[in-house]
Amino acid sequence: SEPKTLTPDETYALDRAHVFHSWSAQAALKPMVVTKTSGSRLWDGDGNEYLDFTGQLVYTNVGHQHPRVVEAIKTQAETLCTIGPSNANDQRSQLAKMISDLLPDTLNKVFFTNGGTEANEHAVRMAREVTGRRKLLAAYRSYHGATAQSIHLTGEARRFANDKGASEVVHFFGPFLYRSEFWATSEDEECERALTHLEHTITSEGSDAFAALILEPVIGSAGIIPPPPGYLEGVRQICTKYGIIFIADEVMAGFGRTGAWFAHQHANVVPDLITFAKGVNSGYVPLGGVVLSDEIAHHFDERAYPGGLTYSGHPLACAAGVATIAAMQDEGIVENAARIGSDVLGPGLQALAEKHDAVGQARGVGVFWALELVKDAARTPDVERAAAVAAASKKNGLLVIAAANRLHVVPPCNVSDDDVRAALTILDEALSAS
Ligand code: PLP
Repeated sequence: SEPKTLTPDETYALDRAHVFHSWSAQAALKPMVVTKTSGSRLWDGDGNEYLDFTGQLVYTNVGHQHPRVVEAIKTQAETLCTIGPSNANDQRSQLAKMISDLLPDTLNKVFFTNGGTEANEHAVRMAREVTGRRKLLAAYRSYHGATAQSIHLTGEARRFANDKGASEVVHFFGPFLYRSEFWATSEDEECERALTHLEHTITSEGSDAFAALILEPVIGSAGIIPPPPGYLEGVRQICTKYGIIFIADEVMAGFGRTGAWFAHQHANVVPDLITFAKGVNSGYVPLGGVVLSDEIAHHFDERAYPGGLTYSGHPLACAAGVATIAAMQDEGIVENAARIGSDVLGPGLQALAEKHDAVGQARGVGVFWALELVKDAARTPDVERAAAVAAASKKNGLLVIAAANRLHVVPPCNVSDDDVRAALTILDEALSAS
């Protein structure tokens, strides 16, 4: 028989009895029952409507229930639900070509995974195979996933509980002038000193020891931190100098989030490997992947790549990807994200930072923004206030992400000006009230 539809109360009760949730002590959890989603909005089990400026986990780049993506999944389900990875499939072929076409002509092959962490696992494996080296470089302010290698690459606190010792990962500080590790007083100084620190880290650990350096071109869950001009170019130069594969982790920042197809495209750099997930198909069906440079791809022309996945290039996920990218192109969704960032959301959040002492900094690009909440002029992080402002916003119909002392404000790339203005008003009131 067909599965029956549950009431919100039944859904909640069965969730609490049987569903084990990510990253959490389970007892106190109170998950919101979501019964309906559309565009930039969702509805809870009591019928309350919310503006969803979380992207869920920052992935609904074309909004909820985009009709073209839904239709593509339906059509694909009727045509061909699944086929193993060793066959060729039309949606997979098309998506690989569409992704390659968004990048310079030295990046032409795509290895598909089920999500972001697997993409990083495989990128690292490719880099180790190609270089014959083991060690890896990753930034302290970073998140790269929750499987064995990716969690060791991760720079922030989620690594600690999983870190059981030797990992072959060396962490370094990237530039972040607001909380400078380098006593810098300007973006230029911060950038130059961060690059010097990176190079000293490499030479101190062994100039020929590193297989890869992984970096989020705009840091995501560790704070939404765009790099200063010149930093990514400097990293690229250092990687080339020491024979290190440069992996751009575009899992969160890619596919329009920053107002460009990929965040590294704001700089003048070409990475060797690019990892992606989330926005590639707005998360409608799990999908991730690695884009390989021709040089790395050719390494495996005559040698077997020692890795694979049952669902690599799953047709339902790839069909959703083809439809997502086509919709973004036809509807100018990436351009919209750039315009919203520079004309509406960015200036609006900057105005909140001017008005409220509690906002130490508003920073971001495109539809990828953070408000950093502080207690005083010394910039002491205010974690409690971030949680309180997020809760007050929710009461008034706006969902944002509270992460440590920050609010991450991350609407879909096709959000409307009016919805952004409504969200800014709710945030303003929540900041005054909390
Ligand atoms: N890399 C980055 C930059 C991410 O933001 C994330 C998830 O938030 C990941 C990797 C891991 O992706 P997934 O959760 O799909 O494994």
